[in-house]
Amino acid sequence: MITLPVINGADITVRRIYCVGQNYRAHALEMGADPDRAPPFFFTKPADAILHDGATMPYPPMTDALEHEVELVVALARGGRDVPPGQATALIHGYAVGLDMTRRDLQASAKRAGRPWDMAKGFDHSAPCGPLSRIEDTGPLTQGAIRLLVDGELRQHGNIADMIWSVAEVIAELSRYNTLAPGDLIYTGTPAGVGKTHPGNRLDAHIDGLVGLGITIGER
Ligand code: MN
Repeated sequence: MITLPVINGADITVRRIYCVGQNYRAHALEMGADPDRAPPFFFTKPADAILHDGATMPYPPMTDALEHEVELVVALARGGRDVPPGQATALIHGYAVGLDMTRRDLQASAKRAGRPWDMAKGFDHSAPCGPLSRIEDTGPLTQGAIRLLVDGELRQHGNIADMIWSVAEVIAELSRYNTLAPGDLIYTGTPAGVGKTHPGNRLDAHIDGLVGLGITIGER
């Protein structure tokens, strides 16, 4: 059973991890996509890819390009299908700061070959996630700075107001594909500035109003 701590609340059990691709204009552009024509799309990670705040992430095998993507993570308290955007916020349990860690070289070769992204995105320890803050405590999050520092140096920064699809729209769209359920996490996409990490790096991720996430990259 995979759990996440909750500020002012009981731990939750993680059911599924969904991720949104290219949900910020500047990141879509840096990945060579057209943010005006490409609709957001989804992929998944296994629940046991969660890595908790303060942990060391072993540098994964089969890559020379482990990259960071700082993201707002939304946890659901309630499920549903075909949820209208106007009702989506009512499903939210809370928010956390997460990292969608990516074997970018495997992703690039999968893209070229038209193959699945699973081994590029859903590998062991690929979903670091900080503690959840309850929506009762934060209110609905629609804006706020999001940033990632590597060894104290700012690498990614943006604002969650700049998402191409809002959190409510993401939940609504995802619920057209799958029935959502309590314990589902949604990684909502990353702003520009993704890049490589190396053994020994300290990654510190922040979103205004939330508890941060800090991890260390371990040895190969
Ligand atoms: Mn991502």
